[in-house]
Amino acid sequence: MVIPDLKSAEEKAQPEEIITGAMRITGVKMTYYFICHTKLWLFSHNITLEKEHDNVNIGKQLHEDRYKRDSKEITIDQTISIDFIRKGDTIVLHEIKKTKSMEVAHRWQMLYYLYYLKSKGIKATGEINYPLVSKKEDIQLLEKDESDMENVINDIRKIAMGRMPPPKKIRICQKCAYYEFCFGDEL
Ligand code: SF4
Repeated sequence: MVIPDLKSAEEKAQPEEIITGAMRITGVKMTYYFICHTKLWLFSHNITLEKEHDNVNIGKQLHEDRYKRDSKEITIDQTISIDFIRKGDTIVLHEIKKTKSMEVAHRWQMLYYLYYLKSKGIKATGEINYPLVSKKEDIQLLEKDESDMENVINDIRKIAMGRMPPPKKIRICQKCAYYEFCFGDEL
């Protein structure tokens, strides 16, 4: 596998599309911030690898199998993608996840969706569904979350615009699409 010389590449002036892309905070970036900053940086620079689609496909399959009656994924401003929405007295956003192993990242992703919609004047709450373990988590955006969110957003932008954070081996690396990219030349 040929690994591009990222270090010298990101020391050069950043092209306009990278700057625009880095400034846009998507739900995926929010999740990656709480998983791995190297992953966040690579994704922000449009470096995506095939294996990454595996979990997305599993999530899509779970959605199709368990939530047939609900409407399809909704994408807003090419920034946030919600698995489905239910409207009653309140608007409830739903995300379907395979495992609880990245619970914190999932929670922040949902908080970001709520924060993003609130900035457009839409009040909603969230529910994260874990159908394989028959669990769900209700999420509400509190005042404290909003100020924390602003700090996280600033930090994500800083990471995306800075030098690539060096990879550090963590539990999820073996399953990460970027594994070979990060550690492929290790003996
Ligand atoms: S392989 Fe590990 S260090 Fe590299 S991007 Fe993935 S999670 Fe991060």
